[in-house]
Amino acid sequence: MTDLPPRRLLLVHAHPDDESINNGATMARYAADGARVTLVTCTLGERGEVIPPGLAHLSGAALGAHRREELAAAMRALGVSDVRLLGGAGRYGDSGMMDTADNDDPGCFWQADVETAARQLLEVIREVRPQVLVTYDENGGYGHPDHIQAHRVALRAAELADAEGVPVAKVYFNRVPRAVAEDAFARLEEDLPALPFDKAAEIADVPGVVDGALITTAIDGGPYADAKATAMRAHATQLEVAPGGRYFVLSNHLAQPLFTTEYYQLVRGERGETSDGLERDLFAGLETD
Ligand SMILES: [Zn+2]
Repeated sequence: MTDLPPRRLLLVHAHPDDESINNGATMARYAADGARVTLVTCTLGERGEVIPPGLAHLSGAALGAHRREELAAAMRALGVSDVRLLGGAGRYGDSGMMDTADNDDPGCFWQADVETAARQLLEVIREVRPQVLVTYDENGGYGHPDHIQAHRVALRAAELADAEGVPVAKVYFNRVPRAVAEDAFARLEEDLPALPFDKAAEIADVPGVVDGALITTAIDGGPYADAKATAMRAHATQLEVAPGGRYFVLSNHLAQPLFTTEYYQLVRGERGETSDGLERDLFAGLETD
């Protein structure tokens, strides 16, 4: 415990790239502030679709190894040094999109025993003692089996940590307020002709969009917008960021906004006191000295 900094943030994600897209600015901010930022990624994303034609030959284990390098480069951009693969590299395979035959692969994360995986995450919690845990909602934000499983494992690990007397004080889901998404997509419509992308995505393509009333926390990532865009660009097999860093595409080639203010819903723990009801700090209200 003695060598741990006073503030410790744990993020649990499904694939390399999810952390940078959802939390890149938040991770960069807290790393710069001297907090311990620990990322646990559950799979290497071996079933992801590869965008650049020059890398299209990568699949399976070779793609996983490549994405591990992309993840390492992204973490350098964010200033984060503590990155773990749940159960060790290659322990859990990418499950592919929902309702595909890949979901039945006995080695995939979707087939993993939640209790076993949660105990592997509990080992990280014991070591790092995070006060704050960030993950997806029960639908994984958008229904991907690995994201749903990451949610289950993260919340079960938090329960186990409680029972062991190493509780995680606050748990948050990644969110985007609907009004923020609507504004961003309206701007995207105007900017689209100047972008290297032909078509825009829809709000329904963005994970975690909810009514603004559910949002408890906004992290202003403005100062870390460049770091976030750089981290996202490091995941070159999976996404392409437009010059200027305000928009990106996934393998569907549909443009979507790159959010630098990142939003959260507190689902466990006490909300910190704020003037307008919205926390600006994931550690708000916690005694971290
Ligand atoms: Zn993912």
